[in-house]
Amino acid sequence: MAHVQVSHNVTIGILALQGAFAEHQAALKKLSCQKKIAIVLVRAAEDLSACDALIIPGGESTTIALLAKLAGLLEPLRTFLQKKPVWGTCAGAILLAQAVKNTKKGGQELLGGVSVTVARNGWGSQVESFEAPLSIDGLQDPSVPFMGVFIRAPVILALHPSTRNPPIEIIARLPTNLVPKSQKLMVHNEGDSDPHDPQSIVAVRQGRHMLTTFHPELTNDGRFHEYFVRTCVLPTLL
Ligand code: GLN
Repeated sequence: MAHVQVSHNVTIGILALQGAFAEHQAALKKLSCQKKIAIVLVRAAEDLSACDALIIPGGESTTIALLAKLAGLLEPLRTFLQKKPVWGTCAGAILLAQAVKNTKKGGQELLGGVSVTVARNGWGSQVESFEAPLSIDGLQDPSVPFMGVFIRAPVILALHPSTRNPPIEIIARLPTNLVPKSQKLMVHNEGDSDPHDPQSIVAVRQGRHMLTTFHPELTNDGRFHEYFVRTCVLPTLL
């Protein structure tokens, strides 16, 4: 079980319109600091006001965006992430991206917040799901690989660092030998001498926001939830 030291109460919202929000809720409840973390399932703008941070789950980014629009949540979410930490997993990562390719016809609404371009379903239709052990510095027990679960995951095509925004920290990469073959065909980042860089990047942190193209909520390993609370959420409460 992952442990995190919290000396005050924290309220973490989980966007609960569609997708794996219940799994994030279960993962947060399992953190050993559970008594000090309150969880709010966010379905309306009022729900955000109690939250110190937000998790946007995996699911289907176009559906989540549509439901958020119908609930009048798009602008409140954009305002929220100007001030508070947000973590997006898979579909949630797409919503947090600055730009997305491979969208459905007509494009899709994004929230932005993290300076990356992603390709939706970027690993291609033939390799829609796979698991890969990831070595991640900064997690508790870093010598124990974290099992990344990738389900029709987005691919990070490009990072857009700028002096106007916090630096983009790469948290995890897929080992080159585990990059699915179809992905090499699906996406090509012009001007990149190594096609796996940045496309092998699967988790980044930019300031208080975090984006993972895989699903830590679909494992029994709470270390990413602990990492989000420790590195993104707690520093904003000091
Ligand atoms: N491909 C999905 C999308 O576009 C994301 C899949 C997922 O979250 N597992 O939103």
